Amino acid sequence: MPKCQACQDEVDEVLRFKMNGKMRRLCEVCVEIAEEEAEISDGAYSAMKDMMEYKGR
Ligand SMILES: [Zn+2]
Repeated sequence: MPKCQACQDEVDEVLRFKMNGKMRRLCEVCVEIAEEEAEISDGAYSAMKDMMEYKGR
């Protein structure tokens, strides 16, 4: 069983979520939380910046 790297729960399926440039495997619940936290801390500007970075690579 895959394990969520945030809450350490064993789940049927983990989702890959990129956080601060690092790929983490999280359960659905933790992905939602992480997305919310990323929005709060980074705001819309960072989302724009990420998009630009993706284009650059
Ligand atoms: Zn989790």
